[in-house]
Amino acid sequence: MIRKILLSLLILFAATSAAHAEPDFNARKANLTEIGGIRVGYGKEMVRIVLDVGKVVEYTESYAEYPSRMILDFKDTWLNPTVQRELTLKSVVATKVRIAQFNPTTVRLVIETMGETKLFFLDGGPKGKRFVIDLGKNDGKGATIKQADIERQERELKERQERELKERQEREAKERQERELKERQERELKERQERELKERQERELKERQERELKERQERELKERQERELKERQERELKERQEREAKELKKQREREEKERREREKKERREREKKSKSKDDDKDKQPVTEVDKDLNEITALSGRRIVIDPGHGGNDSGAIGPTGVMEKTVTLRVSLALKDLLEAEGADVILTRYDDRTVSEKGAKASDIEELGARCDIANRAGADIFLSIHADSFTRPEARGTTGYYYSKSTTGHGQRLADCIRRNLVEQLGTPSRGTQPCNFYVVKNTDMPATLIELGFISNKDEEKLLNSEDGVKRAAQGILDGIEDYFG
Ligand SMILES: [Zn+2]
Repeated sequence: MIRKILLSLLILFAATSAAHAEPDFNARKANLTEIGGIRVGYGKEMVRIVLDVGKVVEYTESYAEYPSRMILDFKDTWLNPTVQRELTLKSVVATKVRIAQFNPTTVRLVIETMGETKLFFLDGGPKGKRFVIDLGKNDGKGATIKQADIERQERELKERQERELKERQEREAKERQERELKERQERELKERQERELKERQERELKERQERELKERQERELKERQERELKERQERELKERQEREAKELKKQREREEKERREREKKERREREKKSKSKDDDKDKQPVTEVDKDLNEITALSGRRIVIDPGHGGNDSGAIGPTGVMEKTVTLRVSLALKDLLEAEGADVILTRYDDRTVSEKGAKASDIEELGARCDIANRAGADIFLSIHADSFTRPEARGTTGYYYSKSTTGHGQRLADCIRRNLVEQLGTPSRGTQPCNFYVVKNTDMPATLIELGFISNKDEEKLLNSEDGVKRAAQGILDGIEDYFG
């Protein structure tokens, strides 16, 4: 079975290669003679078969049986593919004709026939020669096929060939058009798909890039915000810790100082006691001189820092006639200094003339200027601190004397100090009392000892301006403050 199939394949291959090996065949065809057509004509008791050939060719003639047939092999010939391969004959002398390319150089014609045959070449026909096979009884008159039949057959053949050629050309043209249309459509489809793909890819790339850019920007913004927040928190924490450490240090210093003051006071009381014992020994009554002596003792050795408000480029408030606060405060402070020193006190002024206290002068900020004043008192370890000012208000009728203290002070004596001084000032100056009030003034808040800020009166009020600018007013203000300090220590 396999062998049979192989054999069939081999045959098929041979046939196929013969038909399709075009270059090889074309080369060989040059040496072959074409058999270009076959026609059949009928006589009374005969059949004539005519082959169109290019020229006279050699052929062999043989016969076979069952069915009885004549076989003609034409040497060095090729069969035009348009030639009809099989014909059924309507005759008693012959029934069927088959023609085929038997091998690469031989065309075989097989005719199922019986009886006489006659073979010969004739000139003419479309290929130049004709090979004629007469089958059956020849009446001796030669060909029984009329010339007209031959011409008709030739015409019909030609028409058929032309029709077939035309049909083939039309078919091929149509196929080509269809193929071209299909190719164009496919090409266009492909181009469109490629274009769409490219556009989509570009769009996606762009979108992705934009998205990534946005995400990166948001991320960076977030990171920066977080970093800044963290830095600020760390900075604030550090500042708070530093501030707390500083305050703790201050607190310790204050406590140490209070302890020293307490000891000093105790010592003084002990001395006072032993002195009164001595007095008892003398059995003398208390005289006015003794009373003065006691008062002197109350201020003796007290270290008092006086801060004349403003100075230098800072005039402070200015009265309706041009009197400046800085001048009034300095005059009163200097007068007070004399009075206090006469009582044995140790007096320090933050300034002794018209100037700023900070070394930076006019360039100092408010805090630097006020801080410099506090530093003097804190470094001196003053027993009390007194900042002298004159008030000012937009309404000219505002007037009176005010004592200020820092309510959260750890010394706890600021209020009493302010109260003592304010009370005595009002008594001396005859001004209305505006009371003793808590405040947040820098110098009162940032000095370590009992401290007060005194507003002598309103420089913006013409009467009080006049009073504070007068020799008498300055003297009385200094005296009022002195009395207040004595009350405080007494
Ligand atoms: Zn002031």
